[in-house]
Amino acid sequence: VSTWSAVPAGPPDPILGVTEAFKADKDPRKINLGVGAYRDENGKPYVLGSVKKAEEILTASKPDKEYLPITGLPEFTKKAALLAYGAESAPLNSGSIAVTQSISGTGALRIGGAFLARHYPHSKVVYLPVPSWGNHTPIFRDSGLEVRGYRYFDKGTVGLDFVGLKADLQAAPEHSIVLLHACAHNPTGVDPTQEQWAQISDIVKEKKLMPFFDMAYQGFASGSTDRDAFAVRHFVSQGHQIALAQSFAKNMGLYGERVGAFSLITSDAAEKARVDSQLKIVIRPMYSNPPLHGAQIANTILGDKLLYSQWEGEVKGMADRIISMREKLYGTLTHDLKTPGEWGHIKSQIGMFSFTGLTSAQTKALAEKAHIYMTADGRISMAGLNTSNIEYFAQSVDAAVR
Ligand code: PLP
Repeated sequence: VSTWSAVPAGPPDPILGVTEAFKADKDPRKINLGVGAYRDENGKPYVLGSVKKAEEILTASKPDKEYLPITGLPEFTKKAALLAYGAESAPLNSGSIAVTQSISGTGALRIGGAFLARHYPHSKVVYLPVPSWGNHTPIFRDSGLEVRGYRYFDKGTVGLDFVGLKADLQAAPEHSIVLLHACAHNPTGVDPTQEQWAQISDIVKEKKLMPFFDMAYQGFASGSTDRDAFAVRHFVSQGHQIALAQSFAKNMGLYGERVGAFSLITSDAAEKARVDSQLKIVIRPMYSNPPLHGAQIANTILGDKLLYSQWEGEVKGMADRIISMREKLYGTLTHDLKTPGEWGHIKSQIGMFSFTGLTSAQTKALAEKAHIYMTADGRISMAGLNTSNIEYFAQSVDAAVR
């Protein structure tokens, strides 16, 4: 018998499985709305102009391929923290933010989970919104934390269950860790308003919860990196010692380069130095040190005035195209096709994803009859829609719900 004969087959990844089915479909009308990666107007992957220029600058400077330090490229992590916390941030300006480069957002969450499991003295329980990004549960569970949920999405209104959210955070044991999507909540596309964020901050303070922000879409939601950082900066201004996972996958289109950062707010420079030393001890046995190239690209863009403003324009361009697809889809469903049902959420939701409200039977029918692929929960990636396929998509949805 083989050593591995007792290894059971695991279930396929629910999101990457959608792409497999899409690839196998030979119909020319097929549409993939499963994947969480931006597509341009022609349905193609998009390499930002600012990224191409940064790569030219880098190539011309003939960089070596030496190892980075354990916590990554220091110039880059400094700029990443500035992007997230803003130039006015008190802990940033007093040098009390511990920050490390990470293997994109996933790696940042994993470092954070591992660090909290080892050093957060008060709790080993993390509360995730229901639903949340599918990878959050295994990331935190594998980090050694116990995962629980707080109410987030109201199926009835296809909006935020704010009453349920507040009740669940209030009922959580004091000092629990709470995971918050900073903007463009995945998978629902539903974010709290600024007033609601302020109330969440008050509950977090009252219950002494440990806020852990996942900011995978800064700039991608509204088109403004400042506006999308509102929740993070509000919490910091209220004195919360937040943890923060950042990703440059979406907002710089650096998906496969794996560029991210994890940071923690400490009380002063001495505490920061101690935290830094323990972050290194968490990271070193996991992967020694992070990849170089993507961090150099991000660092070049963030450090050059012209490239930075080009990048800001390109982020806004991606966000605006998605917003225009929301408007077009809403208009086609409600005005042109008079599709039964309430579709206002298509327009009010934000970011890459929309929870359509389609049932799993309807999503199955869309795949089988119309060659349109999405996750079984009815989540679509708005970035997969463009002016060439949106009418066909709307007509297919119309047929599926009638
Ligand atoms: N967090 C959320 C909410 C996400 O949607 C994603 C990507 O889809 C990530 C984190 C991490 O992505 P990456 O590891 O590619 O940065």
